[in-house]
Amino acid sequence: MADTVIDVPTAAQALETSSPAEILGWASRYLSKLTFATGFGAEGCVIIDLIARNHLPIDLFTLDTGVLFPETYALWERLQNKYRIEIRAVRPAQTIPEQALVHGATLWDREPDRCCELRKVLPLRHELAKFDAWITAIRRDQTAQRAYARVVEHDTKFQLVKVNPLVTWSHDDVWAHIYANDVPYNVLHERGFPSIGCQPCTVAVARGEDPRSGRWRGKAKTECGLHVNEDKKTDAA
Ligand code: SF4
Repeated sequence: MADTVIDVPTAAQALETSSPAEILGWASRYLSKLTFATGFGAEGCVIIDLIARNHLPIDLFTLDTGVLFPETYALWERLQNKYRIEIRAVRPAQTIPEQALVHGATLWDREPDRCCELRKVLPLRHELAKFDAWITAIRRDQTAQRAYARVVEHDTKFQLVKVNPLVTWSHDDVWAHIYANDVPYNVLHERGFPSIGCQPCTVAVARGEDPRSGRWRGKAKTECGLHVNEDKKTDAA
C-alpha cells in the first residue's frame, strides 16, 4: 500500500460523487495505516459488507464498552462468521465493576459525558494513535452538524485522516443495500431502535420521532464525543 501522503481537500472533491465501494478502494490503496471503527449500526454493517466483498485489506475494530446489547454482541458474531473476518475488540482500561469501584455504580446515569470519555473516547484515542486514517459510517443527513462532513477530511480531534464513504447516502440507500445483499443487521432495528448504543443509554423510539432521540433520553447529551472536530465542532458519533 502507498504511504499516507494525500491532499485531503483535493481527494474529497475528486471522490464526492464516487460510490462507497470506490471510496473504500481508494482509501485502501492510498492510506497505509487504515482502520474502520464500527459501532454495528446499519451503516457500519454496509461498510463491513463492502470491505469484505471487495477483499479490502482494512483493519476492523469495535469499542466494546462492556454494556452493549446482547443483540449487538450477537450481530458482531454473525458478521465475523458470515464474512470470515475479525472485528477486533477495543476495551476501556476498566471493566464495569472496576469503574464502579472508582467512580460509583451506573456512572452513565450521573455523569454520562465522563462515562463516554472513559469507555469510548479514551480507548478510541489510544487505538487511533496507531493509525494514519480511519473510516466512519456517518451520513450527512443524520444531524445538522454532519451535513458539513466531507468524503475525506482531517480529523482534528484525533489527528488523522477521516474517510466517510457513506456521507452522501440516505437512510433508504443504506437499507436498500442491506436488503439487496443480505447484509446482517441488528434485530433491534425492527423493535423501535433506529440508533443503537450502550444498553443503559438507549431506548426504543416511537414512529415519527427523531431516530437519535432514544440515545441518552432525558439528558442534554446527544453525542458520544467521538467525532467532534476541535476546529469546526462538528459531531458525528
Ligand atoms: S453510551 Fe452510556 S454506558 Fe456507554 S459509554 Fe456512554 S454513558 Fe457510558
